[in-house]
Amino acid sequence: MSGFEHSSEKTVTVVGGGVAGMSAACALAESGLRVQLVERRGYLGGRASSYRHPGVGEVIDNCQHVLFGCCTNLSGFYRRIGVAEKIHWTSEMTMIEPGGRRSPLGPSKLGPFELPAPLHALPKLLSASAFTFADKLALARAFSALMRPVPGDSTESLGAWLRRHKQTEGALYRFWRLVIASALNADIDSIALPYAAKVIRELFMNSAFAGSMGMSTVPLSELYAGAEEFLTGRGSEVLFNTNIEAAEWDEESAQWTLTTRTRTLMSGLLVLALPFEATARLLPNLPPAAGADALRAQIERHQHWPICSVHLWFDREITTLDHAVLLDRELHWMYNKSRLQPWRKGKGSYVELVVSASRSFAALERNDAIALAVSELAEFFPAVASAKLEKAALIKEVRATFGVPPGIDAARPSSISPWPTASWPATGPRPAGLRQWRAPRAPATWPQKPSARLLVSPGVFWMRT
Ligand SMILES: Cc1cc2nc3c(=O)[nH]c(=O)nc-3n(C[C@H](O)[C@H](O)[C@H](O)COP(=O)(O)OP(=O)(O)OC[C@H]3O[C@@H](n4cnc5c(N)ncnc54)[C@H](O)[C@@H]3O)c2cc1C
Repeated sequence: MSGFEHSSEKTVTVVGGGVAGMSAACALAESGLRVQLVERRGYLGGRASSYRHPGVGEVIDNCQHVLFGCCTNLSGFYRRIGVAEKIHWTSEMTMIEPGGRRSPLGPSKLGPFELPAPLHALPKLLSASAFTFADKLALARAFSALMRPVPGDSTESLGAWLRRHKQTEGALYRFWRLVIASALNADIDSIALPYAAKVIRELFMNSAFAGSMGMSTVPLSELYAGAEEFLTGRGSEVLFNTNIEAAEWDEESAQWTLTTRTRTLMSGLLVLALPFEATARLLPNLPPAAGADALRAQIERHQHWPICSVHLWFDREITTLDHAVLLDRELHWMYNKSRLQPWRKGKGSYVELVVSASRSFAALERNDAIALAVSELAEFFPAVASAKLEKAALIKEVRATFGVPPGIDAARPSSISPWPTASWPATGPRPAGLRQWRAPRAPATWPQKPSARLLVSPGVFWMRT
């Protein structure tokens, strides 16, 4: 592909072909802008991608990715690129205790009628054997407290708040440490209360569908191939194996010049859709600007948390469940990939086990981690004991997700970048269907997720209404 070198046409360059970059690029292309999406690697998807694992000879995701009904922007992106039907949705969850006792969770009906949120999940929660009566009372107390707004500037940790609201051991370990700590991928003492409150509200209180879980029925890279087709079909392009090393702004031509090791690219607008480490590497090679040092200081305060996944192939089916929440052990989630992705051929079964927010599991050697996973799995599914393990893979993603510790909002970069505001499109013709976009004010109570990865330059950006 050519890139937009020497083009006089106004263009947008999106740097980073992960979910953030693909989503921004496709939204901009749909709005009629000419976009070049630039990706350092030879494929799209970033941390949400799949590949043929050389050790097992199978295409696997770098980890199971799930979305929820409340992830409306991600669902909108899937609809935009035409892959929404490749997501399998379920509202049923099964919690399993070691020994095999099961507690089904999910929405309930009253006769023919769906119970409205937040009551929809209550009947099954009340009858769940995984929780004692005291656990249920504690959870009800915490949920009702979280229905009231939490100050957006609270610096309390979720752990401190839970202790203040007298959560039982069962509620702490079987709900908060598992469900919420997995959603935000950190230990409860490392999660800022407003973020936990937002998860609870979004997942359980807004609508019954909001808590439904979506999983791709195809490998992630196949899912995101839709983004490349979408862009190229609209006169935009994707440049692979292109690592942006520096960017210069020319006031006269109102153009960015982006430098890679072998070429230069021109662009009227620039969107950095990078993780904070990659942004930090680029910062010294961006033009000087008031506010750049403050941005660097903000970025340095962010940290990633790990997620590990163990992929096991057995010679037979070990469970008929599609997925399950595993209690009281290192393993957190079981995804039965043979059932979720029925196109996978073979007589045995393939299950993926996910360990969120566990720095200790991430420190284990491969064989120890796999052995631990198999022995724990057998506690939940007795068929594992008589099944033959045919092959296994361990994937550790040390920088899986950004942490949201108490006080992190003070280090949340603004969506208005420190770099120059170009005269276009602020004074140029406005592309059809676009409105001027300004950085949102932080709401007083329910903050949005931090946009640490997304910097927008020039200072005014255009988004579809
Ligand atoms: C194991 C694991 C499990 C997860 N599970 C879930 C889940 O269940 N649900 C969920 O919502 N999220 C999940 N996540 C988080 C999710 O994957 C990330 O939040 C998301 O993929 C981040 O997308 P991104 O575009 O911000 O960053 P990235 O995916 O990191 O993309 C950034 C891209 O920029 C490229 N790049 C970097 N520097 C340059 C440069 N200088 N020039 C050009 N390109 C560059 C990189 O190669 C990369 O492709 C999980 C993550 C992991 C790792």
